[in-house]
Parts: sequence; C-alpha cells; structure tokens
Amino acid sequence: MTHPSTATRVVFLGGLGRSGTTLLERLLGELPGVAPLGEVVHLWARGVLAGEPCGCGRPFGACPFWTAVGERAFGGWTRPLAERVLSLRHRVDRTRRVLRIGHPDLDEYVRAYRRVHDAAAQVAGASVVIDSSKHASLAHCLAEGGASIHVVHVVRDPRAVAHSWRRAVRRPEDGRPMTRWGPARTAFHWTAQNVALDLLARRGAPAVEVTRLRYEDLVAAPEATLKGLAQRLGLPAEFPFVTGSTAHITTAHTVSGNPMRFAVGPVGLAFDDSWRSGAHRGLVAALTWPLRSRYGYHGVTA
Ligand SMILES: [Zn+2]
Repeated sequence: MTHPSTATRVVFLGGLGRSGTTLLERLLGELPGVAPLGEVVHLWARGVLAGEPCGCGRPFGACPFWTAVGERAFGGWTRPLAERVLSLRHRVDRTRRVLRIGHPDLDEYVRAYRRVHDAAAQVAGASVVIDSSKHASLAHCLAEGGASIHVVHVVRDPRAVAHSWRRAVRRPEDGRPMTRWGPARTAFHWTAQNVALDLLARRGAPAVEVTRLRYEDLVAAPEATLKGLAQRLGLPAEFPFVTGSTAHITTAHTVSGNPMRFAVGPVGLAFDDSWRSGAHRGLVAALTWPLRSRYGYHGVTA
C-alpha cells in the first residue's frame, strides 16, 4: 500500500434528496483522478445486505470494484460488519443530534467510512472520492470524527424539490415506488437539512470546508459553474464532456443514489420548471421562508 490513509480527499455532497446531488456527482466523477462512490451511507443496507445493483449494473456483491474495496478495507464485506455499522448509525448519525454528536461510538462509526473512502481511492487509483450521502448528520459525524472533507452543500428551490417529491417514480433497483412526501413534509425536511448543513461551517472543524452550490446555477450555466466549483475543490477544471446543456457521462460504480446514477451517454442539463404550475407551491414557499429567501429563491408563488 503506497498511499497513506490520510491522503484521500473526500468531497461530500450534502443536501435534501431531489436537489441535484446525483447529477453533480456524475459530472464531477468524469474528472480525471476522481472516483464517484454514490451514497455510501446506504452501502451497508442496500449494497452489502440487500445486494442492490451498483451503477455498473452488477449486483453489489458481483461488482469487481466494490469487491476489491471491501477486501482492502475490511478483508471482505460481511453481514455482521454491515449490521454493526447500521446499529452504530442508529445511535450516532441522527439529524436531531448534529449539535451534540460526542458519542462513545462515534470513532468506530467514522472509521468505517474512512476505510471505505481510503480503499476506494486506492482501488480506483484516484486521489479524490465523491461521497454523495447527502445527509447533514453524516457530514457532522465525519467532521467531528476528524475526517478531512470538503462538503458541497447543494440547494434547490424548495418548490421544485417539493414538486419532485410528490411525483410517482419507480426505483430501477427493484421496481418498487420511491418514497413520496407531501408539501409540508418536504418543507420540513428541506429546512432541517439545509439548516444543519449551514451549521457545519460553524463547527470550526479544522479539516472541513463547505461550499454552497445552487442547482439552478448548475443547469443554467453548467460549464462555468462546474469550473468555479472544481477550482474551489482543487480538481482539474476542464470539462470536455460538457457541450452547452448536454453532458456525456460514462459508467460509474455508485453504490446507491437516484435513478440517474445508471445513466450513460448524453444527459440533458436543461432547467425543469414544471413545478411552477404545480399545486401547493405557495404553501411550500411560506413554510420555507426565510431560509429560502437567503438562498436567493424569491417570490411567493413563482
Ligand atoms: Zn460496479
């Protein structure tokens, strides 16, 4: 092993689901030296225990990338290992605990993620891994546990997010419907996740940086926005695979994420404003003020 474990740089994508984290991961994952891992928080239940497919299409247990990562990190994936991490997660990694994370099990929990990140970087031959786990509470755990992470806090207009959570979508992994939330529930989670991610910068953890990115800016000007972000992250700021509002993406070994993690080939980056005619947008606007306004999402119904 030639790389010391501290050499892995972790870009953690945070934000509420349906805010564009999977799209951003796929785009950054095309950069040389960067390995996109998907939502590592779900690796234990959906990958190890349920054997759901990797982004490459193979079941988790049959993916050569993840098999090699498991062997390097833990001597192989096992059910007791996954169950242990899930039980630690239940105790340590909770949104309501973000301001008082000092738990005796924190070190063991964070160590499991650091082992995955380090092993994945080594197997991929990458210096940077992307973990799009999204949850603010995991970012706080990693920060408190001393991990070196650069968090990209992805925000999206809550009215568009609520519109997306109401839609009926099937999971490509098993054909079951994805979770659906009503507008009030989405507004609550949107506020909770974003407030918790905003608090991350105030923890004062020395190895943690936070950069906020608006989904709308990404789709309005993909190349310019990606270049600015790549420079902040210390990544190569060249995006030959982005032409106008289309990106050409290749297969990625993402362990979990929204359905677009399976997309390969040209992907449109067009702005979706179907939410503007959706129901309940005024309710969501009211429930998410004033944070919504602070991120630049103005107006009441449009
Ligand atoms: Zn794979």
